[in-house]
Amino acid sequence: MNAQHPKKKNRKKKPTRVDCPYYKHKNYMIDRYGVPMFRVPIDLGFGCPHRNSDGSGGCTFCYEDGGRAEQTLIANSIEEQISGGIAFARSRYSATKFMAYIQAFTGTFASASEQKTIYNKLLQQYPFDAVSIGTRPDCLPPSTLEFLQELSKRLEVWVELGVQTTHDQALKRINRGHDWESSKRAIIKLHNMGIMVTVHLMVGLPGETIEDNIKTAERIAELPINGVKIHNLHIMHGTELEREYREKPFIVYAEDEYAEILIDMLRRLPPDVAIMRINTDTPADRLIAPLWQMSKPAFINYVINSMNKRNIQQGDLFKG
Ligand code: SF4
Repeated sequence: MNAQHPKKKNRKKKPTRVDCPYYKHKNYMIDRYGVPMFRVPIDLGFGCPHRNSDGSGGCTFCYEDGGRAEQTLIANSIEEQISGGIAFARSRYSATKFMAYIQAFTGTFASASEQKTIYNKLLQQYPFDAVSIGTRPDCLPPSTLEFLQELSKRLEVWVELGVQTTHDQALKRINRGHDWESSKRAIIKLHNMGIMVTVHLMVGLPGETIEDNIKTAERIAELPINGVKIHNLHIMHGTELEREYREKPFIVYAEDEYAEILIDMLRRLPPDVAIMRINTDTPADRLIAPLWQMSKPAFINYVINSMNKRNIQQGDLFKG
């Protein structure tokens, strides 16, 4: 049976594991399901409504593959992506619970009936306990919302919304094609339908200040969300952002600079919200900036140690 959709009344609940000063996604899932939930990345090949048919256009930071996970790039079919992902998780982590993670491009960019057919097939074939679908706030028409609500009766449904920032000027500059108001509407609508909501945020968008990032965390904290993914902006080869950066370079944060902003944001988020990511991987041959010395795990440890040393944690500046 699905775990119950958490109501947002008990937001003062602290993370149950004290070793990490923020509520890691893994711990959130253990608290919810008793064991970690392993995410299996899947590319359903729906494409992106915000790009032209030849692949041009779209968000200025987006690489041509729309953020596909490496595992899905080497598989030949959807079935291969899933069986490979499940087999890997079972042998490497002794995983017993799985979440289908529809993450490349826009996971709801298909008709509701097409989505229904695909999910029915997947859920019959594979032992998924939950599904997480990455999409844009403006790609949730009524027919899709209806389908997601129906799906949520069979298993837990999460929607990961690319919000990025709550500032319209920055959204315009990165050519997101939607405003903050549409993100806010989508979050509330999904929550009211019993769907779990994760928001993606980016730090270091051109033209944004530290105060803007903090304001974004405070605005997001007021909404009924269940998870947050944050990462610093990566400038990749071949993107519109690369051209902009080369023409007129803007500030790109070093590890310690980004860590300070991130910590300030985490402190303003509710303590019961899962922190699903605080940094991101970009293959070295794609990345132009920033070129960090720290590896991904080293950065995570740096943030945890910095917060522990100062005795601060996620939510201690949350206004409630
Ligand atoms: S970030 Fe998402 S919405 Fe923007 S161009 Fe890439 S796939 Fe499309």
